[in-house]
Amino acid sequence: MEENELSIVQEDAVVQIAYNLTVSGEEIESDTLEYLHGYGNIIPGLETGLAGLKVGENRKVHVAAEDAYGEYDQDQVIEVSRSAFPADFEIRMGEPMRLRDAAGHIFQGVATAVSEDTVELDLNHPMAGKDLDFDVTVLGVRPATEEELQHGHLHYGCSSCGSDGDCSDGCCG
Ligand code: ZN
Repeated sequence: MEENELSIVQEDAVVQIAYNLTVSGEEIESDTLEYLHGYGNIIPGLETGLAGLKVGENRKVHVAAEDAYGEYDQDQVIEVSRSAFPADFEIRMGEPMRLRDAAGHIFQGVATAVSEDTVELDLNHPMAGKDLDFDVTVLGVRPATEEELQHGHLHYGCSSCGSDGDCSDGCCG
C-alpha cells in the first residue's frame, strides 16, 4: 500500500515547520512557519531541502548564500547626497533604516559611512553573502485549498495580500 501522500512534503502541500536558523555558528532565529510548498514562498535552498520529508522528521539543511539571500553585491553599496535625507533625520551607522526614494518606494539600507556631504548606504539584504544553517522539523502537512493554489501562497489576512499584485479582489474579504 502506498504511504499516505499527505504526510510528505511535496508540491501543492501546505507545510508547517519548526526551525532554528544558525548563521556562522550563531543562532539567529527559532520559530515556526507555515508555507505553500513549490511556489518559492520560502528561500529556494530551504524549500529544496525540505522536499520529501515526512511529518515528524528532522533535517539539518545547509543553504549556501547563493540559494538563500544571494551573494553580497558590492554594486549595492551606493553613495547618496546627504541632502537627500530630511534635515532632522538621524543617520545611525550600521543600523537598518527604512528609506524612501524620490519615487516613493520604501527600501532598507544600512549607513556604512558618513561624510559631510555624502552617506554611503549598503542596500544588500542583511543576510546577503551568508550561508544559512537550518535545523528543521516538519510539524504538519495538509493539502492546499483551491484558493491557496490559485494564489500560490497562504493567506493570513490582508498583509499577505498586499505584498503582490495578484490578490487585488476578494482575498481580504
Ligand atoms: Zn492572495
